Amino acid sequence: GGGNGFAFFEAHMQDGVRDQLELARDLRAALEDGGAGQLSLHYQPKVAGDTQRVLGVEALLRWQHPKRGAIGPATFIPVAERFGIIIALGDWVIDEACRQVAEWRDQGLRLRVAINLSVQQLRQPEALLQRLQHALQRNGMDASQLSLEITESVAMEDAGATERTLQRLGALGVSLSIDDFGTGYSSLSYLRRLPVSQLKIDRSFIQDLETSADARAIVKAVIELAHALGLEVVAEGVETTGQAAELRAKRCDKLQGYLFARPMPAAELVHWARRSQAP
Ligand code: C2E
Ligand code: CA
Ligand code: CA
Ligand code: CA
Repeated sequence: GGGNGFAFFEAHMQDGVRDQLELARDLRAALEDGGAGQLSLHYQPKVAGDTQRVLGVEALLRWQHPKRGAIGPATFIPVAERFGIIIALGDWVIDEACRQVAEWRDQGLRLRVAINLSVQQLRQPEALLQRLQHALQRNGMDASQLSLEITESVAMEDAGATERTLQRLGALGVSLSIDDFGTGYSSLSYLRRLPVSQLKIDRSFIQDLETSADARAIVKAVIELAHALGLEVVAEGVETTGQAAELRAKRCDKLQGYLFARPMPAAELVHWARRSQAP
């Protein structure tokens, strides 16, 4: 096309790259400074489908950039993955989540915590296993209090190596959960071999539950499949009472979403849990 269009496109691209480099540099600096008060974990409850009691929480990373304000993980996790920072960032998450669970326990609140894993953490299983083991030991935590969420597409990538890594993680005693289930292409025979205890149905299906017969059919099939394989099912992104009712009727084990609670700082979660667990 015209010279102008090309120049604009190029300038725009360079902007994007410079932007990412800058974010990567700032993220690295924050990590070298132990998070620098900029990184934190927010926690979103998973509640029982039937009683609505809180059964555990998922840790979700937050970054408060000194100049740019809050940046979401959908923006900075890919940058961390691209620029080789994800292992250090993932280590920070493991340490912080375990420290927090121990602190809650000391306050009389028993909660399981789930953390999200990046594909690159799974590709360095030695380092990951060591980090997990140390964090559990240091905090006097039982491995069963920790679960790891791995997206379906990551779990299916490089199946042989992934299976071996998941077996080793399972042997450690942590529980494994397949995240965003329904968006990838799992082979059922492969799924059956993995030491996984939970499937999380992707939010896109939950969103369409009240309007789409297809989404209803998929959700029903996933719940039945999971139960037939002895797995527990979690629905993510539950926003309406209609969706929750539909999921309960289909015997979904756990529900998670804004309808119950948004991800929140640790201090707030303590109050939320006490309120919600009060008889
Ligand atoms: P995810 O693991 O699928 O997490 C669920 C996302 O949906 C979270 O977004 C959560 O805040 C949001 N969510 C929860 N309930 C609702 C709801 O009812 N409605 C809507 N619209 N959204 C809801 P968030 O916190 O922005 O995280 C985005 C993604 O970033 C996560 O998706 C996960 O893949 C990744 N991520 C977050 N923290 C970490 C981390 O510590 N390590 C790694 N590797 N990835 C992380
Ligand atoms: Ca997740
Ligand atoms: Ca998810
Ligand atoms: Ca998702």
